[in-house]
Amino acid sequence: MNFDIARKKMVETQIVARGVKDRRVIEAMLKVPRHLFVQEAMAAQAYGDNSLPIGEKQTISQPYTVALMSEMLQLTGSESVLEIGTGSGYQAAILASLARRVYTIERIPALAAKARRLFDALALTNISMKIDDGTVGWASEALFDAIIVTAGAPDIPSALLDQLVVGGCLVIPVGDKQDQVLYRVRKLEDGTVAREKSIPCRFVKLIGREGWSEDQ
Ligand code: SAH
Repeated sequence: MNFDIARKKMVETQIVARGVKDRRVIEAMLKVPRHLFVQEAMAAQAYGDNSLPIGEKQTISQPYTVALMSEMLQLTGSESVLEIGTGSGYQAAILASLARRVYTIERIPALAAKARRLFDALALTNISMKIDDGTVGWASEALFDAIIVTAGAPDIPSALLDQLVVGGCLVIPVGDKQDQVLYRVRKLEDGTVAREKSIPCRFVKLIGREGWSEDQ
């Protein structure tokens, strides 16, 4: 299997064809070797139009979802971005070529260890990662220009809004444990937020202090 050809086809048929226009997002999706972020036995399925299991009952998102969420952040290259839910590390790797610095938090140590090995192997030196409950953010590195949550939340964690710059946006799936809607939430000068609805989606649960409880 030629992964470069498969990746190009993925970008054309799943991402550009569905309306993603941000050149920098398209370039990043063409560049990052998604097949390295899935389980080895599934490498041949890495460029398919779907999410895939990555172990620990978690998933790597569908390529289109990654591209759409990345585009919704409206990054120009100078930003400090926080991601909650490192998982495979794929979304963080995409963000690493769209922003100045990426901070990413994962609660499951085994996934974090795997992702860290990939960041090192691919020399993605502008990614910082820690193992923690990301629903409380990363206070010592705040404020962030943009925040992305890649697990389904019952509501918008208030700590994340506190750690976002005025004018910055938070992209987050909010809903129940099965189905969510993707939102872009912009923090306004008067302290309120403007919510914009995007597509329906289905993420694994955001588990933590401002998320779901583990056994819920
Ligand atoms: N962005 C990932 C998607 C992984 S799925 C990728 O590109 O592969 C969502 C991840 O969020 C899972 O790995 C899950 O363990 C993690 N997660 C869930 N709740 C979390 C929390 N409160 N803090 C940090 N990570 C969390």
